[in-house]
Amino acid sequence: MMLMAMAFTHVAQGEVKMSTWGKTADGVAVPIYTLTSGKIEARVTAYGAHLVSVKAPDRTGKVADVLLGFDSLQGYLTQPNSYLGAIVGRYGNRIAKGRFTIDGKTYQIPINNGPNALHGGPKGFDQYVWDSHEVPGGVEFTHVSPDGDMGFPGKLTATVRYTLSGDTLRIDYSATTDKATVLNLTNHSYFNLHGDDKGNILDQKIEINADRYTPVDSGLIPTGELAPVAGTPMDFRKPEAIGARINDDNAQMKLAGGYDFNFVLNGKAGTLRTAAIVTDPESGRKLTVETTEPGVQFYSGNFLDGSLTGWTGTKYEKHAGFCLETQHFPDSPNHPDFPSTLLKPGETMHSTTTFTFGVTK
Ligand code: BGC
Repeated sequence: MMLMAMAFTHVAQGEVKMSTWGKTADGVAVPIYTLTSGKIEARVTAYGAHLVSVKAPDRTGKVADVLLGFDSLQGYLTQPNSYLGAIVGRYGNRIAKGRFTIDGKTYQIPINNGPNALHGGPKGFDQYVWDSHEVPGGVEFTHVSPDGDMGFPGKLTATVRYTLSGDTLRIDYSATTDKATVLNLTNHSYFNLHGDDKGNILDQKIEINADRYTPVDSGLIPTGELAPVAGTPMDFRKPEAIGARINDDNAQMKLAGGYDFNFVLNGKAGTLRTAAIVTDPESGRKLTVETTEPGVQFYSGNFLDGSLTGWTGTKYEKHAGFCLETQHFPDSPNHPDFPSTLLKPGETMHSTTTFTFGVTK
């Protein structure tokens, strides 16, 4: 009986193909991996451990690339800090004034976003060729960030494993350090369920599993408050079009120029639970995001301005894609009340996020 049940619930493990995508300016060969399983094809590269593309069918079976991305390695090499599909590290999102204190010692990391530090500084993990090897259904990337890298203490070894099984792309993160440090690894994919070249995301409907969010100041640094979403344009406890309230007369929305907020996910951090569900009424495509992280940054591509050109030649304009960056809260090192981003020698950070692609009727 047991065996039969197992056979029926078995989900197809993805197939993996590796090829060389190109070379960096220093002549380092960069692999790209194509994962296929179910109806989904995902491509990931060792450069910045970027998720490059995800092809998913609509309700009629028509396939589109639902990820914003470049057509060649060159695109990623020459447009650093575009973060399309990037693994962001050491610290996803902002640290106020780029400053934090560990065990009484204050560290300063480079300022690259107004008065603050964003995404680990100007040369983050998205700009390195990671070591890589195939694993069943996917690929595992490893990056060693030396002590003092971008001002962060400790030699940090980060591992990011992408696997595709059925219609679910899973990302497992882990990290160790030899000195106490802070980290917040995330994936910065921009999705557009119409297809990356088919206009903006404003009509796509999102549901976010959060009763609260972290309001921000004018530099998009959390004030420290965990505010209820009730009665605000941040209330996505029931599905709502991304564009429905994006221009509301709301002070927080005006500061961010759209959605660019960390949502405090309901349920217990450390357990895999739903973060968000996005559906596209037009194509029927559906994306479900689950995570073990305490938060998710829902960003509606407010700063995209047409200066990045994607793989089909599409210029990515404002709201061309949305991001659901599963993460610890921004500026956690300066908010002792937030879930901790501190990692000490002898500990291993583990985190998992899944993206499941389906269709609605
Ligand atoms: C941030 C945005 C930023 C974007 C691109 C998001 O994680 O919240 O404010 O513009 O990344 O760097």
